[in-house]
Amino acid sequence: LRTYSYINLTFLSGKRFATYNPATGVKICDVEEADRLDVDKAVEAAKAAGKRGSPWRKMDVSSRGRLLNKLADLMERDRTLLATLETMDTGKPFLHSFFIDLDGSIKTLRYYAGWADKIHGKTMPVDDNFMCFTKHEPIGVCGAIIPWNFPLLMFVWKIAPALCCGNTVIVKPAEQTPLTALHMGSLIKECGFPPGVVNILPGFGPTAGAAISSHMDIDKVAFTGSTEVGKLIKEAAARSNLKRVTLELGGKNPCIVLADADLQLAVEEVQRGAFFNQGQCCTAAARVFVEEPVYEEFVRRSVESAKKVAVGDPMDPRMSHGPQIDQRQVDKILDLIEAGKREGAKLECGGCAVEDRGLFVQPTVFSGVRDHMRIATEEIFGPVQCIFSFKSQEEAIDRANRTQYGLAAAVFTRDMDRALSISSALQAGTVWVNCYNALHVQAPFGGYKMSGNGRELGEYALAEYSEVKAVTIRLTEKP
Ligand code: NAP
Ligand code: MG
Repeated sequence: LRTYSYINLTFLSGKRFATYNPATGVKICDVEEADRLDVDKAVEAAKAAGKRGSPWRKMDVSSRGRLLNKLADLMERDRTLLATLETMDTGKPFLHSFFIDLDGSIKTLRYYAGWADKIHGKTMPVDDNFMCFTKHEPIGVCGAIIPWNFPLLMFVWKIAPALCCGNTVIVKPAEQTPLTALHMGSLIKECGFPPGVVNILPGFGPTAGAAISSHMDIDKVAFTGSTEVGKLIKEAAARSNLKRVTLELGGKNPCIVLADADLQLAVEEVQRGAFFNQGQCCTAAARVFVEEPVYEEFVRRSVESAKKVAVGDPMDPRMSHGPQIDQRQVDKILDLIEAGKREGAKLECGGCAVEDRGLFVQPTVFSGVRDHMRIATEEIFGPVQCIFSFKSQEEAIDRANRTQYGLAAAVFTRDMDRALSISSALQAGTVWVNCYNALHVQAPFGGYKMSGNGRELGEYALAEYSEVKAVTIRLTEKP
């Protein structure tokens, strides 16, 4: 597998780094490493590709849409290869890569392909003898810094709206998972996107990532990852050229299960929400508040179901749960599990690494969790479900909102009036009613509070990748 970028086949840094299969610990390959100078070079290429008169700027908007659709076609052609690479690099079950990550990525490209020729301004009545209209223009060079939990999906969530709006892009995949982004590079070339429109720079956060967020000629940066790094990126943007910043950060997402809910549905959806992608989701169902009358039964069924999760080789279609991404994440998860036990939560099942299996962690359920405990406040990013009990609806809402985060939340009830009033009261960018992780490309996604700024997906994302220009014309008569 060769590193691919539009600027060069070899980066200036001359360095390479290894990427490993977390399921086996075996090195997959080395990839070329981009450093600051490579970022500079990519920015030059992206600026040139997006300048006035360039093929990309002159391209018909409908042709832009066709290119995005063609990229989706090539992903469909290479679906098995992409899903295999994703599973090798991340450890997520192959069937999840194939059906969830690939499906979401292809749909996202097709959705934004459809928008390419439908992005338009308005004509507004203004005072006196003037006419005024707006145009939505590309921002320019957009940087994207993405995480390892959904490498391909996050790649597409960033490039699709950016390209649809006519920008050029520089992407830095996470150090743990560069492979699908690199294959996308070859598909982007095969599609016929002009050189320099998309530049892919595998490398590390403190070097390549920091060079992107502090670059004077990058006009916008979109980031998904930790809150800590999100702050660094916003700071670097402020200290350099005040580039636009959108952030999609962590969550400590509450689920409220009312006594009248379809209990089995709630048990299944919430637990899938907690364990999906080995718990490595910003939307993980982290705090499950269950109304007292059904609490015991909810815990019993959740434990029973957690014990049945098939943990093992992610290439084996019978397995639904793979390894964590790396040792650092495993250590963090196990440390939090220990803290949960020490602080008095009841460990119902799981609670440790799977013996002799490197990075695999047992699906874990805690009951009797209290709001002040570390497992109730810190993002675990592992397969740990924390169950709390509550007495009244108001109490549940109040406790659910008592967090610095506000990414997602869920409510389970058969009473639509209560579902609607609780969803209004929850401080979160997404509220799911009687479902979990129901993400759709047509709907916006993003966080309240410290879960981030801006929205991805849907029509809302277009605003994050466009500048609005007002053109005002003097007329001799009032129009
Ligand atoms: P992270 O450091 O925030 O990584 C996300 C991306 O930011 C990676 O591409 C990373 O590069 C890059 N980065 C790191 N430092 C940077 C800097 N100073 N300037 C610019 N870019 C920088 O996340 P992590 O360390 O992999 O995981 C730590 C925790 O973050 C997890 O336990 C989890 O709680 C949270 N997280 C959240 C999400 C999410 O979807 N919201 C995803 C992943 C992790 P490298 O490749 O060098 O790391
Ligand atoms: Mg990191």
